[in-house]
Amino acid sequence: MSTAFYCPPECRLHDMGAGHPECPQRLDAIQDHLLATGLDIALDWRDAPDATLVQLARAHSAGYLAEIQERMEQVKATGRPHAVDPDTSIYAGTHDAAFKAAGAAIAATDHVIDGGAQTAFCAVRPPGHHATRSESMGFCFFNNVAVAARHALDERGLKRVAIVDFDVHHGNGTEDIVAGDERVLMCSFFQHPLYPYCGAVPKGTNMVNLPVPPYTRGGEIREMIEAMWMPALHRFQPQMLFISAGFDAHREDELGQLGLVEADYEWITRRLVTVAQTHSGGRIVSCLEGGYSLSALARSVAAHLRVLAGVAG
Ligand SMILES: [Zn+2]
Repeated sequence: MSTAFYCPPECRLHDMGAGHPECPQRLDAIQDHLLATGLDIALDWRDAPDATLVQLARAHSAGYLAEIQERMEQVKATGRPHAVDPDTSIYAGTHDAAFKAAGAAIAATDHVIDGGAQTAFCAVRPPGHHATRSESMGFCFFNNVAVAARHALDERGLKRVAIVDFDVHHGNGTEDIVAGDERVLMCSFFQHPLYPYCGAVPKGTNMVNLPVPPYTRGGEIREMIEAMWMPALHRFQPQMLFISAGFDAHREDELGQLGLVEADYEWITRRLVTVAQTHSGGRIVSCLEGGYSLSALARSVAAHLRVLAGVAG
């Protein structure tokens, strides 16, 4: 069965200006590399509708959604950008990109639950894992993965889902949303200290947070995953796996100081596929988070996708 691939054109419309690392070219780099390597033919390229407010409200407060939607519509109409934090701004294309990014994560979840594919990858932006229940921050507006996970639980009737976050930054937004929700197990590692400067003390018993110091390399990360994530995931027996797939822990990425390479992403993905095949009927929905070195990002996404699609050597 092929892997579903979502890369909505609207996700390129969000552009925070020249020199901003979270740029539309990230998606171009991924897509170009898939075409150049021939990996594109192993993927089922699919369209997605926008997320609805009802769907977003499973992870975000109604007050926040009303406020951010109004802001996004205002900026779309006037063209005047609005900064939500020093690194994160709403521009004219942000509205359409953000609603489509979350919509893709939901569509991927439905498609996998309905049996149309075993695995899915959403090459979407803006990313989501720093967006809390009621706040945009760190390049994120809607928490795509948390919205999709709650869709699987609340709308599709799943009882247990796991969220695995391997971005170099702590997924504080996802933690804010799912901490204490015992239907969710969240496993992550992240460089610490580093933006958003939290996560060392987990907010709930359903969190497996592994803060690691700068310059940690892939071998040490693999040992920690084997010792800490894998037993927790096997105990939890998730019915579906969601991945916050950030590739900024790559050693070529300048936003973090960890030392992962493509082979590490391949290894991590293989371990997660093992969990999904044991407990979840193989079901995985993975969504792009960070990853700012365009070349390393494209190569790492390809390594991740080759395992998800079962075409790795
Ligand atoms: Zn990141």
